Parts: sequence; structure tokens; C-alpha cells
Amino acid sequence: CGVFAVLAPGQAVANLTYFGLYALQHRGQESAGIAVFDDVKVRLHKDMGLVSQVFDQEMLERMPGQLAVGHNRYSTTGSSKVCNAQPVVLMTRLGPLALAHNGNLVNAAELRASLDHLAGEFTSTTDSELIAFALQEAVDSGLGWNAAIRAAAARCRGAFSLVIGTPDGLFALRDGHGIRPLVFGMLGEPEQGQWVASSESCGLDIIGATFVDDVQPGELIHFRQADPIPERQRWCEEPSKLCVFEMIYFARPDSRFFGESLYSYRVRIGEVLARENPVAADIVIGVPDSGIPAAIGYSHTSGIPFADGLIKNRYVGRTFIQPTQAMREAGIRVKLNPLPDVLSGKRVVVIDDSIVRGTTSRKLVAALRDAGATEVHMRISSPPVTHPCFYGIDTDTQDHLIAARLTLEEIERHLGVDSLSYLSKEGMVEAAQANSSHFCTACFDGQYPIEMDEEVRNSKLM
Ligand code: SF4
Ligand code: MG
Repeated sequence: CGVFAVLAPGQAVANLTYFGLYALQHRGQESAGIAVFDDVKVRLHKDMGLVSQVFDQEMLERMPGQLAVGHNRYSTTGSSKVCNAQPVVLMTRLGPLALAHNGNLVNAAELRASLDHLAGEFTSTTDSELIAFALQEAVDSGLGWNAAIRAAAARCRGAFSLVIGTPDGLFALRDGHGIRPLVFGMLGEPEQGQWVASSESCGLDIIGATFVDDVQPGELIHFRQADPIPERQRWCEEPSKLCVFEMIYFARPDSRFFGESLYSYRVRIGEVLARENPVAADIVIGVPDSGIPAAIGYSHTSGIPFADGLIKNRYVGRTFIQPTQAMREAGIRVKLNPLPDVLSGKRVVVIDDSIVRGTTSRKLVAALRDAGATEVHMRISSPPVTHPCFYGIDTDTQDHLIAARLTLEEIERHLGVDSLSYLSKEGMVEAAQANSSHFCTACFDGQYPIEMDEEVRNSKLM
């Protein structure tokens, strides 16, 4: 999911949030929503569909206010229905709250059971709503916003990057490991105290906000109206475990992590991939869009020319985000078309960022051969995905992961390639110029940084 929030009295905050969500559309395409605080009153609009389908100018103009919270949803828990769209808006003793969540809790059943007395008020099947109810309960028990948010977060286990609008300003929080990203920035000059929080820095860029910092893992930040200095505090101390899949695939290439764009990181892993897995060939192509930067890096290092061998229909979304296998398969056929003029008679290295189920790759290889490629060598700029994700990326259950079921030779045969190799885990982590302990790499090695409840574990592992 994508989360975005703006606290900027005097600005068209709903409009700014619309653009922020537009930049974060890749993080979720099922539903979108914006809640705007007009003094202490909240207007909420959310619906199924893309940001541009859910909102129009007229609607945004009917949402004036000083603080807006927005969300793009990509379902990992709870089905794909409008009742599961966010933000979640609830009333408390201290006025309304509007909460948007990116991530996935691994103790949702336990949390739901502990909120059983409120079950009649639940309107969704998401873990995100449970966080909002835990917060409402903490406020109604007598705590102030800050203490209540920390109390609610302490009941959650898993991945949660949160933005929370309240009558006392905007709060932004990341779980102790910082599994999902969250950054903040400002509009105008610091003394204006106009704050923006966004899942990724590309959301700041689009509205002309200046990047200030990451919300750090385990940090809670309180932005107050017109206050030039936000209040920052650690609510939890855990080792940092940013999702490495954000670096490899999920986040936008123009978003900046650790001071550089992911485009640069992805070019660099392509260079490492070429050193680790060389092959004789005539051209290097990337699978658009996510395989392109690594293909450019592979070409740099190998000296094999880069070419555009596949054209992507720009109006098709990410195939894996479609909720069913049947839709996913239909999605691939309309998404990519090979260029025979480029491919015919050539030995081709094709680079993609990941193989998850293998659905994309198998069709792709057949299409490249149809277009005249004489050899197809597939190189993947991440290690084999062998384990499911429990923290908010929908990489499917373990039995659907091709690398969990088949050996490398079997996968080669299944895909119909002349050769296949993957980036090493060391290569992936070293290219990020950080220590491996800074990342969650569980889908590549099964080292889950946060223990899951038993039935959660069993729901996805073979
Ligand atoms: Fe990211 Fe994989 Fe960890 Fe999930 S399991 S948080 S996708 S690295
Ligand atoms: Mg791709």
C-alpha cells in the first residue's frame, strides 16, 4: 500500500494528497481514499479503483481543510472490497482520528480477539482497522494522542508504517524494524511548519516538498500545525530490517533510499549480476519496466549492447497486483510485445528483477523465441524467491513459488531457457552498501525477523 499525509493550513491539502497518492499508485491499485480534517470535522471519500478513477477535481474542491491523510490499497489481508479501503476514520473522546496503514500485522487474530468487545463496530476484515480500534480504545481509556498511539502500536506485531490525522496534528510512525518505508518532508520554509509524510520520496517530489528525513524504524513523529520543529521520539528499539524487495522491485526507481535513487541501486545490481553470471550473447534486454535498470547495468559490465526487445503497454498496471491467477495470466498477454526486428537471429540475455511464480517468464521466453531469438539466457537481479512474505508483499503461498518447488535445472526446463541464473544474496546486499542485518531478506532465505502467529505461518508455508 501507499500512505500519504499533508498538514498545511491554507493549502489545498486534498489536492496535494491526490497528487501524492498518484505518485504512489504503484504501491496499490485496488482502492484509494482521502480523509480531510476541516478544523475538527472530517470528510472521507474512498472507493475501489485507481486514484484518478476515485477522485475528480470537483470532489477534491468539496474537501477543504488543514490536514489530509490518504491511502492506496493493495490487499494482503482482507479481501478486495470497498469496506476494506482506507483511511479508517473513527471517533474518540478527543475527536476523530484518520489512520492509513502500509504493512501487514502477524498477530491480527490475537489483536482482534483482544478487541472482541468492539467486534460489533468492525466494518472491515483488515488488520489496519484493528490498529485504529486499538488507538480509539487507548484514547477513550484516558490517554492523550501520543501515549495512546504508542500503546496501540505496542499491541501490534508485524510491519506497520502509519500516518494518523488527529485534531492535535499529524503523527507518523514505523514499526521497530522499519519493514516498510516512510519519509517526511516540508512545503515552503521551515518556519511555515507545513509537513508532508509519504511512503516514498517520489510522493514528496511530485508536490514540490523538500525531503527532510526517513521516519526512522521504531520512531514516532508528531507534526503540529504551524510548528517548525516536529517532536521525534523512539517508541521501540529493534534492529532495522527494511524490506529488501522494496529496493529490488516494489518501490519506484526515482525514490531515494539511503541517499540514492533506487535506479542507481538497480543498475549496480545488474553490474554485479554480469560479474557473477557472464554469458556470451549479442544483445541484453530488460523486461519493462522493473528489469530495465539492471539490464543497463548488465550491459555496462558485460560490454554486450543494450537493446529494447520488448515494448510494454503503458496503460497496463503491475501484473502481480491483480488478485487472481486467471487475471494475472490475462494481464501478461496484453502487457508485453516483443520486437522481431531487434530480436531476430540474436542470442539474447533477458534481465528481470525477480521470478516469483514463473508465470511471466515462461510466456516471455516463448514470445522471445517466436520473435526469432536464437538463444535466450535469463538473468535475474535478485536471488530465488523461496519463501512467502508475511509483512505486506503479496508473493503468494510457498507452494506457488517456483523456486521453492523446483531445482534450477527444472526451472530452466520449465521456462524453456538456454540458461538461467540469479543474483547472489551477498551481491544483492553488498550492492546496497549496507550490512545484511539492515534488511529483511526472508523471501530469499526464510530468516523471518518477526515471529508470526502459528496459524499465520501455516497459512502460507508448505
Ligand atoms: Fe520484503 Fe521479502 Fe521480507 Fe517480505 S519477506 S518484507 S518481501 S524481504
Ligand atoms: Mg517486472
